[in-house]
Amino acid sequence: MSDTSLPRVIVLSTGGTIAGSGKSSMSLSEYKAGSLKGEQLVAAVPELEQFARVSVEQVGNIGSSNMTFAVWRTLADRIDALYAQDADVAGVVITHGTSTIEETAYFLNLTVRHDRPVVLVGAQRPATALSADGPLNLVNAVRTAASASSRGRGVLVVLNDEINAARDVTKSNTFRAETFGSGELGFLGYVDQDKVAYYRMPEKRHTTKSEFDLQTIGKLPAVEIVYSAVESNADVIVEALQQSGVRGIVFASTGAGSLSDREKATVQQSIKRKLNTVFVRSTRVANGRVLGRPDFDDLGIVAADNLSPQKARVLLMLALARTSDVKELRRIFSEY
Ligand code: ASP
Repeated sequence: MSDTSLPRVIVLSTGGTIAGSGKSSMSLSEYKAGSLKGEQLVAAVPELEQFARVSVEQVGNIGSSNMTFAVWRTLADRIDALYAQDADVAGVVITHGTSTIEETAYFLNLTVRHDRPVVLVGAQRPATALSADGPLNLVNAVRTAASASSRGRGVLVVLNDEINAARDVTKSNTFRAETFGSGELGFLGYVDQDKVAYYRMPEKRHTTKSEFDLQTIGKLPAVEIVYSAVESNADVIVEALQQSGVRGIVFASTGAGSLSDREKATVQQSIKRKLNTVFVRSTRVANGRVLGRPDFDDLGIVAADNLSPQKARVLLMLALARTSDVKELRRIFSEY
């Protein structure tokens, strides 16, 4: 019998390594992500009963490199419905593959319309592995979601006892358990034995303060990322993307957002041909901001501030669903 005085937490299960299954306990890199059901993940961790009344909904069961915009919408809609209909739900946890967890988290950070906690969790080792990290990560995510102190902080990502803000979190290591961090800005808090302990609040607009309402947004505009490297053929790639109907392109440019002469000429060509593609400059460098600068601003290119290319893409998709006005897009990139 679960203790009815405990907070209620809903786990939405989407797959990933946390639900992965391998041939043996030593199958650490060869396994099938998204094998076990959310019910099985929760049933395997009876310790959860100490912290919350947990119920599970299966949203999908995929490796997160196959995550889709349709699943993003399903998650956002379901979270909004749960919170709108049920004042008793203290928090929502989403189990997710780590490969794209940061993109899903940022999308939800911009589109969920409630201030109650939404916590994404994954694992670096499959559920069948020796020293699987999923079970404790799940307990810590549920504790974070159940904690009133998590309210109003936007969407959170919890792994390895650390709580990260959706906007800042990124995966930094392919296999090690210590992989998620928020760069030089740092994470928000710890999940330790005694409590969920926070030290800071995210400053940028999210959830209840976001202007992005999925009810008014149809199909998300196509936006792609073009990765810069020495002598990369930006013109070929950009033209192919434009032919495929892309509305926005995010450059993962070198350094502090320096586009090469070839990339700049590609943007100038696009303007000359009146293709109306919106270009954003972000950087392949892990930390620091990309600032506006006249030679690029004059071409209508938008600076991504310190958003990673993959997060700038999420923001640009939502922004382009509302406006193509460059001044407005610059405001959006400075506020989110
Ligand atoms: N391939 C896995 C995924 O679904 C990786 C993981 O979950 O860690 O993203």
